[in-house]
Amino acid sequence: MKQILWFRRDLRVTDSALLQYAEDEVLPIFIFDKNILNSLPKDDKRVSFIYESVLNLKRELQSLGLDLAIFYDEPLNVFKTLAKDFDEVLCSIDFDAYAIKRDKEVEKVLPLKRFNDSFILNPNEHLKADNTPYKVFTPFYKSLNLITQSFSIEEYKRNEKLKLTSFNYKKIISLEDLGFEKQELPSFLYKDARDLLKEFLLEIDDYQVNRDFFYKDATSKLSVHLRFGLISPKEIFNIVKKSNVNDCEFFIRELFWREFYNYILFHFPNSESKNFNGINISWNENEDDFQKWCEGKTGVPIIDAAMIHLNKTGLMHNRLRMIVASFLTKNLFVDWKKGEKYFALKLLDYEASSNIGSWQWAASTGADAAPYFRVFNPYTQSSKFDKDGLFIKSVIKELEEVDPKLFHIENALSSNLFFNYPKAIVDISLSRKRAIENFKRAKDENL
Ligand SMILES: Cc1cc2nc3c(=O)[nH]c(=O)nc-3n(C[C@H](O)[C@H](O)[C@H](O)COP(=O)(O)OP(=O)(O)OC[C@H]3O[C@@H](n4cnc5c(N)ncnc54)[C@H](O)[C@@H]3O)c2cc1C
Repeated sequence: MKQILWFRRDLRVTDSALLQYAEDEVLPIFIFDKNILNSLPKDDKRVSFIYESVLNLKRELQSLGLDLAIFYDEPLNVFKTLAKDFDEVLCSIDFDAYAIKRDKEVEKVLPLKRFNDSFILNPNEHLKADNTPYKVFTPFYKSLNLITQSFSIEEYKRNEKLKLTSFNYKKIISLEDLGFEKQELPSFLYKDARDLLKEFLLEIDDYQVNRDFFYKDATSKLSVHLRFGLISPKEIFNIVKKSNVNDCEFFIRELFWREFYNYILFHFPNSESKNFNGINISWNENEDDFQKWCEGKTGVPIIDAAMIHLNKTGLMHNRLRMIVASFLTKNLFVDWKKGEKYFALKLLDYEASSNIGSWQWAASTGADAAPYFRVFNPYTQSSKFDKDGLFIKSVIKELEEVDPKLFHIENALSSNLFFNYPKAIVDISLSRKRAIENFKRAKDENL
């Protein structure tokens, strides 16, 4: 039996289903997929990160007596070439729409065995008593008590008898061959995920209290490593539980939000493009409003700083994601799908299920969404979570000398002659009122 181990979003050798279920002679591979790469800008930071992670995986596999063949092609072409020499392909399950279509095509060429390798739960399981899926997080999470309260979750174990099949795959593809330029990445991304977790565990006691203060460094920063499978969620769960720290339950719960959104997208694939709660909304189509939000030119300091930071680094703190998403969908009344697409282009940790679920949550259209009458006031949010303006000043250098109180008062900067800061593109209180009325109407019509 000759098997191809197709690594995709599981770039690790620990807790690897592929390395457990492989039987004998194998060829581990990674494909830089032309269908995906060709649509990305040449300075995409994620490609730099994936590229380094793939080379690291190659080194790790080599240290186990294996190797990694790296291709740059459309997956179907790769498997058409390999089909005559191999019996089957092992890979992790990938749930997004493109991946499902791609895998169906590959399956016509070679049998594909898929394993649940990127999430803790198999979304096919854990239904309600009436056999329908949960739509609300809290009962979903409670139903998982046996898992979440356990001391550890069994990880995949590596089959140590695997042999590398002979195959001509030595060519190393450079980032330039892929058509991309090497990008500077945030320094924490150069750290091993387990080291990041170790550092985080020293501070985990303060997680629940501090996690919303986006100028503090109080969250794990593991989402990018998780997205590309450099560490598995099971491994994180087990390390956290084993460390015996108090107060880890709140963090474990966050890990299961990731599971919940994957579960929702699996059971309700239409939520990728439709309002989950079925309401019809006539969104604001003004392209100028949307562009100003994207570029961080709205005249609202906290929104502008968050968006400029995202554009520069590919990062955004969870609280800021909630604030800018509320501002776009409620104050500017722009369709959440536009914001979701923009995040998909920019976020280093972009994960279709978490992104779609969270955007629908913020727009009050989703599963277990924020109630439509609860609209974040960006000024109140910045005064609460960035009182001294440390985050805003760190991003918008021209505002370094400004009294931070001015950041938290509508149009206080634009009306001050000393600062060249634009007037806010929307009135917060009027736009909040408009959003609530429109949502109420849409809800009533849907009854
Ligand atoms: C509008 C919006 C869009 C988002 N898009 C994404 C996305 O594309 N990819 C993504 O991974 N997360 C997304 N999130 C969730 C959350 O913002 C990030 O997971 C978090 O900021 C990552 O930082 P961290 O690893 O330090 O988080 P921590 O607070 O340390 O949490 C640990 C892990 O738990 C998971 N997690 C935490 N909060 C959430 C949440 N609300 N929903 C789902 N999983 C969560 C993540 O895997 C995270 O790495 C989005 C949130 C919002 C409001």
